[in-house]
Amino acid sequence: MVSTLLVVVDGLRATDVRKMPFLTELARGGVSYRQARSVTPSLTRPAAASLASGAPPGVTGIPGNRLWADGHLIDTGRPDHLELLRSLRGGRLLPPPTLGEHLADHGRELVVVGTGSNGCTLLLNPGAADGHGAVIGTHPYDHDAFYAQPESVRRRLAGSLPQAADGPFPELGWATDLIVDYVIPELAPDVLVLWSGELDDVQHDNGVDGPVGDDALSEIDRRLRRLIDRVREQAPHTDVIVTADHGFSNATHTVDMAEMASLIPPSLADVVQLVDNNGGVLVYARQRLRTQQVDAILDAIMSAEWSGPVFAGGDVPGLLPPAELCSARSAADGLLAYVSLTYHDRLGNPRIGHSVRDGARYTGGHGSTSAADMRIPLVLNGPSFRTAHETPLPADHLDIPPTICRLTRLPVPPSMSGRILSEALLPGHRDASALPKARRVVAERDAADVTTAHFQHLAGRQYFLSADRHRS
Ligand SMILES: [Zn+2]
Repeated sequence: MVSTLLVVVDGLRATDVRKMPFLTELARGGVSYRQARSVTPSLTRPAAASLASGAPPGVTGIPGNRLWADGHLIDTGRPDHLELLRSLRGGRLLPPPTLGEHLADHGRELVVVGTGSNGCTLLLNPGAADGHGAVIGTHPYDHDAFYAQPESVRRRLAGSLPQAADGPFPELGWATDLIVDYVIPELAPDVLVLWSGELDDVQHDNGVDGPVGDDALSEIDRRLRRLIDRVREQAPHTDVIVTADHGFSNATHTVDMAEMASLIPPSLADVVQLVDNNGGVLVYARQRLRTQQVDAILDAIMSAEWSGPVFAGGDVPGLLPPAELCSARSAADGLLAYVSLTYHDRLGNPRIGHSVRDGARYTGGHGSTSAADMRIPLVLNGPSFRTAHETPLPADHLDIPPTICRLTRLPVPPSMSGRILSEALLPGHRDASALPKARRVVAERDAADVTTAHFQHLAGRQYFLSADRHRS
């Protein structure tokens, strides 16, 4: 029987929950977090990999939707690219143990159904290929009408595909039917993940706070009600967690990759690989570089008008320490820096982002360190959770897998670096002394160019809230 249903609505902003009557109802009847955050960078597949493993992007080795690995540009939305990455990494796509594997070790099963990219669906349970649960993506793949792992599930579904649903977002209707008619009765997962990719597409094309985005929110809310009602008809005691991978901003500028690359000193142009990631850019070294060379590259990037907060190691003034993003593993991969694009307009409005994909201009985006991109909704509703409780405590993606371990009564593996969200659970509440401590990190390039990063600390964890760069 499904004990936990995790629903991820791609790109749903915390502030948009109020436009969704069902999700609002779910939040009122359960626990909601005012200060929940994405991983950094605030991008889809880094979040998926961290939800799959409970480890930060520096440890999963998925710091972007697109990344550079051993001379290959990997689009993590594509299963074939991920299989290449898996082979480059000696047979493991994500180095840390995953929730899917942990559940399988204890005779439980994780099944993921995703309407986002098939790569995103695979990243949520990469051990499915080896029979640790299953993943089912709704997009065509190879010669099939959809993507599925393991092979036994692919063959079973190829024989009797549910009819495509009608109306807007038919894949989401299809996914709900698939979950109710096939996944729950036949695969009997203990933990079920539904990833909805529709809103992200709509908001990239149309931006946020407009009629098209609002219509999409209403439609997804109706679909969520149908899904959760139908799952609870079959499994009334299911605990439900609803969250997002990242927030969203409206984009006002497009920074072309060629323009970015032209900033790199000519003598270093061949050894630097810039990888665009929407509101952020990853900077890789194609070969081992001297400290002086790295500093010259970072200095050139930081001087650009489009460059916002920059996370990197080194002595260049104005850099933020790499924290959890660029761990030792990332350094071994050649990742030098994560650059958030600037996101303030002249009025200081933080809901304005830049988008970088050359050729394809987006109206909306994410991937920056702005609070708008970093902040996500987190709603927990079900028999294990408190009711009518809104908490100011911080939480992020890394806390969700350990909390699912607690809900399924399994130990939390040491590789998961988040905490159990005990303040959300019944019985017993976190005592009042456990208040988060705020911390600011200030990095000055010069007196007129100051980057400030905001953190909260709670129960041994550091939560990155946002970072701003102000130039006067
Ligand atoms: Zn996303």
